[in-house]
Amino acid sequence: MYYNKLIFEVSTPNRIGHDLKVNTNNLSNLPSNLKRSNKLKLSEVSEPDVVRHFTNLSMKNFGVDTGFYPLGSCTMKYNPKINEKMANLPGFQNVHPLAPIEAVQGSLEVMYETDILLREITGMDKFSLAPFAGAHGELVGLWIIKKYHELRKDFKRTKIIIPDSAHGTNPASVAVAGFDVLEVKSNENGTVNVEALKELLSDEVAGIMLTNPNTLGIFEKDILEISKLIHDIGGLLYYDGANLNALLGRGKPAIMGFDIVHLNVHKTFSTPHGGGGPGAGPVGVIKTLENYLPGPVVEKNDKGKYLFKTPKNSVGRIGTFYGNFLVILRTNSYIKTLGVENLNKIGNLAVLNANYIRKSLEDYYEVSINDLCMHEVVFNGLLDKSTGITTLDVAKRLMDYGVHPPTIYFPLIIPQAMMVEPVETESKETLDHFIDVMKKIAIEAKENPEIFKDAPHDTIVSRLDEVQAARNPVIKFDDL
Ligand SMILES: *Cc1c(COP(=O)(O)O)cnc(C)c1O
Repeated sequence: MYYNKLIFEVSTPNRIGHDLKVNTNNLSNLPSNLKRSNKLKLSEVSEPDVVRHFTNLSMKNFGVDTGFYPLGSCTMKYNPKINEKMANLPGFQNVHPLAPIEAVQGSLEVMYETDILLREITGMDKFSLAPFAGAHGELVGLWIIKKYHELRKDFKRTKIIIPDSAHGTNPASVAVAGFDVLEVKSNENGTVNVEALKELLSDEVAGIMLTNPNTLGIFEKDILEISKLIHDIGGLLYYDGANLNALLGRGKPAIMGFDIVHLNVHKTFSTPHGGGGPGAGPVGVIKTLENYLPGPVVEKNDKGKYLFKTPKNSVGRIGTFYGNFLVILRTNSYIKTLGVENLNKIGNLAVLNANYIRKSLEDYYEVSINDLCMHEVVFNGLLDKSTGITTLDVAKRLMDYGVHPPTIYFPLIIPQAMMVEPVETESKETLDHFIDVMKKIAIEAKENPEIFKDAPHDTIVSRLDEVQAARNPVIKFDDL
C-alpha cells in the first residue's frame, strides 16, 4: 500500500498537463451504446509529474543492462546493441505483413538466411520460424510427432517420455498436444537412467523429449544409445534446444539422433527477453519431417526469388503471419556479427564460467552433481544445512547485494535447487563479485541468520506473494 500510494498514485484533483481540445462533432454518428456516459477517470497530473513517474519506474527495473543476471535456464546474456540497430532500420521495422511479396524480398532473404544458419548450427534440414516462444515450438514439435504417426496409421502411440529433470513446459506441452506423459527417472549422475528408460518402451510410445545438456547442466552421455532405443521402437526424438549455448559450434542435435528441435533464439541468440516476451522458438526437423512443418516457410526459386510455401502435410498455421520477424532478424544479426565459425567460443566461455563458479563455491554450497557441468551449475542450497537458511532466503538476501538471484527450486529433483547460469558475456570481475557475495551470504547464514528473515531490505518491496503476483498481476487502474 505504501508503495502504491506514495510512488504509484501521483494524481492530484484538477491538475492538468495539457488541455486537449477534442472535436466531438465527428462522434455524433456513433451509436449511443458505444458512447461513454461517465467521464474517463484519468490520472490528473502535470507533464513533469508524468516524466518523473515513468523515469523513476524505469530506474526500478533490473535487467542485463544494469547488472549480473545468472537466472539458470534463461540464458540472460548481454544483447548486443547492433541487433537493435538492425531491427530498427525503417525498411525492416515498417514492413507491412500484407505487403506484396515482391516488395519485401529483403525481409524474406533475412528469414531464408536465418533458416540456413540454424540448419548449419543444429544439423537439421529445414526450419519453420513461425513459433513465438520455446513452449510454442514444443507444441509444434509434438503436433509433428502426432501427425507423423497418424499419417502412418499408427494410432496407438499416445505417450511421450520425459525425464524427471525436464523443464516444466515439456509436460505441459505434451498435455496440450493430447499425449500422456511417461516420466523417466534420472540416475545419480543427473542423466537419464537408461535401464529405467528401457522399461518404459513399447509400441505406445510416440517419442521422447530431451534437453541436452539437461537442466542440471549435465551432458547426456548416453544420448546415442537413447536415440537408438527410441528409434528402434518407432518413436521420434524431440530436442528441447532452449539453451543451446554449451553446444554451439561443438555438437549438433542431428548427430545425436534428434528428429525435431526447437531453439529459443531469445536465449541462445541474444534477443532481449523477460517479462513474457517477445521471443521466437523456430522449429527444425530432419528431411523426412520437412513436409510437416507449420506454414509458411521461406523458399528460394530458380530465379533467386524468395517465396512463402505451406508444406504438403503441414500441421497448419500456429500464429498470424510469419512469426516474430524482428526477433528472427536480431538472431540473424547476432550470428553474423560473431560469425558461425566463432560460435564455439560462446560455449567454451559459458562452460568455463559455470565451472569457475562451481569450483569457487563448492565449500559453501552443496554441488548437486559432482561432475564437470556445462553452461549452468545447480547447487542444492547451502552446504551447512544446520543454519535453517533456505535457498529462498539466500535468493532474497542476494538482492540486498544488487545481484539478481539464480533460478531457484528448479529442477524439481534437487530439493533446495539454485541454478546458476553465468553466461559467456560476464567478466571475471563480475563472477568474482558474485562469488564473494555468495560466500558472504553463506557466512551470514551461520553468524547472523536473523538478517535473512525479512530480506531483501533495500528493494522497493520486500517479500511478495509470488503466486498471487504471477496469477493475478495488477497491471491497470481498476477504475478507468
Ligand atoms: C526457457 C525454456 C523453455 C521455454 O521457453 P519459452 O520461450 O519461455 O516458452 C523450455 N525449455 C527449457 C529447457 C527452457 O530453458
